[in-house]
Amino acid sequence: MGTPIEQVRDEVKTLLRERGLRATAARIGVLEVLHEERLPMTHEKVMEHLPEGVHDKASVWRILSDLADSGLLRRMDLGDRVWRYELIDSCRAVTDDHSHFLCVDCGAVSCLPPLEIRARHGELPKALLGAQFQVRATGTCSNCLSD
Ligand SMILES: [Zn+2]
Ligand SMILES: [Zn+2]
Repeated sequence: MGTPIEQVRDEVKTLLRERGLRATAARIGVLEVLHEERLPMTHEKVMEHLPEGVHDKASVWRILSDLADSGLLRRMDLGDRVWRYELIDSCRAVTDDHSHFLCVDCGAVSCLPPLEIRARHGELPKALLGAQFQVRATGTCSNCLSD
């Protein structure tokens, strides 16, 4: 299970090069973590997964924000005022700007399938046609419900 690390490394190097970014060891390290996790991660979580003592907090912040600015990562606030970052990966099934579910008990985040916004009665106001919706879904995940 999982992709061999050499293959992941090649993939993230290609992603960086395609965006005209230098493939530094630190950027590769951060992207590898997000690639493995396949879910939105906080700065703190990314730090936990990086080898200890190699990367300082400030440079990981800078890397996350650079990669988000260049379109490699999706940055999101799921309602708890914490930025989370997710790898935008063209080989995924979910390539659109999908919504996320945040469990308020354990903090687990999951990616949601594409959703459709409809008015219950009548039509959506014209201004909303073609608008970008950010749906915030919070609640209790199935793991926490079964405890
Ligand atoms: Zn939970
Ligand atoms: Zn997602």
